Amino acid sequence: MKPMTDLEYVDNEGLLCPYCGHDEVTGDSPQVDGMMVTLDVTCESGECRKQWSDRYALAGYDAPEKNASEDYDGLTCYPSLYSFAKRLNEAWEENEGLDWQEAEDLVSMLRKTETDNGAASELEVLRSEILAYCDDNEDWDSGEVARWPNLIMIALDDNSAGLMKENIDDGCQVFDLRLSGKKEWVASFNQENLAIVFIGLYQ
Ligand SMILES: [Zn+2]
Repeated sequence: MKPMTDLEYVDNEGLLCPYCGHDEVTGDSPQVDGMMVTLDVTCESGECRKQWSDRYALAGYDAPEKNASEDYDGLTCYPSLYSFAKRLNEAWEENEGLDWQEAEDLVSMLRKTETDNGAASELEVLRSEILAYCDDNEDWDSGEVARWPNLIMIALDDNSAGLMKENIDDGCQVFDLRLSGKKEWVASFNQENLAIVFIGLYQ
């Protein structure tokens, strides 16, 4: 018989040794075998050192994000477009060459991205240029295509989506939200009202 039931073990989020109750356990890397994922775990208690396997089950799937943009406190930014461009930029540099499937994925992501808000004008220009190039050219030039991820990153890094506020602890922090989704701290206020006035003045 097992020293702890599965229900009790899951209730403890798998963080307690089922043999001695010690709260320091270390998991190995997960082993995937079809529908089954297991993970060997060791109790770190010096007197116990027992080993067992965690068992994970498939819980469902997530559909890919439809839109590359996200709304944040009423402002639109493009974190998933940014992270995809960044990933391609790094991978293409490392492989010293681009991947055509990834380039097509980037273009289809751009096609689905709505950039018709005032803050994203530089991205809008770049997007139109890239999409026009794709429509006009059957064969893409690798030198041209290889520049796109970096140009997209620059357009998202360099431009602000606007100022936003966030209540953190007792204060209200104002951030400059970049189109990339990064937040740059601007000012702190002890009252939310003051932050709203500040944003109204500078936005
Ligand atoms: Zn133990």
